[in-house]
Amino acid sequence: MNVIIFGPPGAGKGTQAALLRERLGMEHFSTGEEFRRHITDGTALGQQIRAIVESGDLVPDAIVLDVVRDALQSERFRNGCIFDGFPRTLEQAYALDKLLADLGQAVDAVLTIDVPDDELVRRMLARGRSDDTESVIRERLRIYRERTEPVLEYYQRQGKLFRILGNAPIEQVHQEIRSVLSSLATKQ
Ligand code: AMP
Repeated sequence: MNVIIFGPPGAGKGTQAALLRERLGMEHFSTGEEFRRHITDGTALGQQIRAIVESGDLVPDAIVLDVVRDALQSERFRNGCIFDGFPRTLEQAYALDKLLADLGQAVDAVLTIDVPDDELVRRMLARGRSDDTESVIRERLRIYRERTEPVLEYYQRQGKLFRILGNAPIEQVHQEIRSVLSSLATKQ
């Protein structure tokens, strides 16, 4: 099963994806984690994207898609994956459909975690990542609304979108996600 965990920065995508990996053994791929690893390791890719990530802007689609294409070649993701923080643009969503189709797979569901903006800012400031300063947070939220949110409509039209109430304790959000996933599993 290929599931996308969607939502604004700070919504808890990474936390929820990690819980699904831990409890259901689902594989998890986070483009943001992958980029941070490259930046920390000082790879050529890391050097190329560091300033972009630190400013809160989006990494260009071509670079993101190279990273995702590579990951999807790996045996680990043969039975599907939880995508966290990807796709973030319509171009990325179209490209993901093609990449999965080549593997005889498809996006099964998109779970979007809804959280009010003031709570998002509070959570991100508490997390204290190097790209979590207040001005960068505001920029990431702006870009989310402008470039990423339109992707939801693409999946909604395909009947693949599920809304999760994210302004709740981690465990409660996890249970809500689990109930959506089990309703999908019984349909398949
Ligand atoms: P995240 O860990 O998902 O919050 O991502 C951290 C940062 O990595 C983002 O603010 C972007 O700069 C970059 N990034 C992660 N995923 C993507 C993506 N799918 N498209 C473009 N940039 C991304």
